[in-house]
Amino acid sequence: MTYDLLLKGGHVIDPATGRDGVLDVAFAGGKVAAVAERISEADAREVRQAGGFYVVPGLIDLHTHVYWGGTVYGVDPDKLARASGMTTAVDAGSAGAANIRGLVDLQQSRTDIRLLAFVNLTFPGIYGDLRAVAVAEADDLRLLNVPHVVRTLKTWPDQVVGIKIRVGRSSTGALGAMPLHLAISASEQAGNAPVMAHIGADMPPRLEEIMDPLRQGDIVTHCYTPKMNKPLTTKGQLRDCMVAGRERGVIMDVGHGAGSFGFDVCRAMLELGFAPDVISSDVHLYSADGPAYDVLVTMSKFLCLGLPLADVIRAATSAPAAAMRRTDIGTLKPGAAGDAALLEIRKGPVAYVDAIGGEMKADKRLVPRGIVLGGKWWSDGMAPTLNGGR
Ligand SMILES: [Zn+2]
Repeated sequence: MTYDLLLKGGHVIDPATGRDGVLDVAFAGGKVAAVAERISEADAREVRQAGGFYVVPGLIDLHTHVYWGGTVYGVDPDKLARASGMTTAVDAGSAGAANIRGLVDLQQSRTDIRLLAFVNLTFPGIYGDLRAVAVAEADDLRLLNVPHVVRTLKTWPDQVVGIKIRVGRSSTGALGAMPLHLAISASEQAGNAPVMAHIGADMPPRLEEIMDPLRQGDIVTHCYTPKMNKPLTTKGQLRDCMVAGRERGVIMDVGHGAGSFGFDVCRAMLELGFAPDVISSDVHLYSADGPAYDVLVTMSKFLCLGLPLADVIRAATSAPAAAMRRTDIGTLKPGAAGDAALLEIRKGPVAYVDAIGGEMKADKRLVPRGIVLGGKWWSDGMAPTLNGGR
């Protein structure tokens, strides 16, 4: 037997290679082994019919909180994966240098899917973001230890992909945007790993103070925030710092979450040609059962907002992989990790909700119909119900 698993007759969309058409995909030794118009069933130990489904690289959610058991608002990554086709969850700053080891170990002890992480600049990570116990994580200089962050990036180069800092009044307090500059300094000392900055809901600091320091390859998350630091002017134009950021090569990430995504802002920005580079969910305790749910529901919203399917797929596969400077995931190129998702566009009325109670009535959604992990069939997929529960 040449192959462990063969997916027959699916519509492959692999933005990294430009493949878009009906193709067979074969896996061997945990990796993608071949993609071709016809691969013989006799060569594979297991064959799955994928006709009628899209076959895409395993989805990457660049902004999650999956430090399950390590922070109070982490959610179970495998459960999310079954619902969404996500095979790589990137935790965005739940852990700091103090407790990142527990997150790295979670990969071995508890989850099947791949976990990667942005280490938070602040030593304890996001330790107290509960409604009942809301404590700013980065408003005290004693917690912002650059050498520990640098050491973390050097200790786990395969798992820790960059540095996270939430910049906003409720997280950096009186320090304003200063912690962002420390994060950039840490990055410079650690091979220029990408910095992911979150646009705080509340000012100060202003959006310009968050956007302007970001360099090419850094990531701004919550790029369609409907809150105080909206990327649009009062006249509905893009703020200059967003345009300049895009021109400079700052990566625009959705980070839907529980408060950071608004249909009206997003629609207006899409009309101005400002599509996202990366579609991520910012899934956590307060967004996993709606309004964000997971990366696939977030992708469905963009599909219904008019983004072409191939662009939607790119924004959760090759684009986040590139943002992390990884070439081994987010593609079905032979030799890449053997992760794939089978997706279906299911027609029927859906009422999507954004993070501020806005509703969008639509007629379709993406649902997972199978997940391949490490070259093996892992799950048949189980989509969340969009009005609560799974
Ligand atoms: Zn987040």
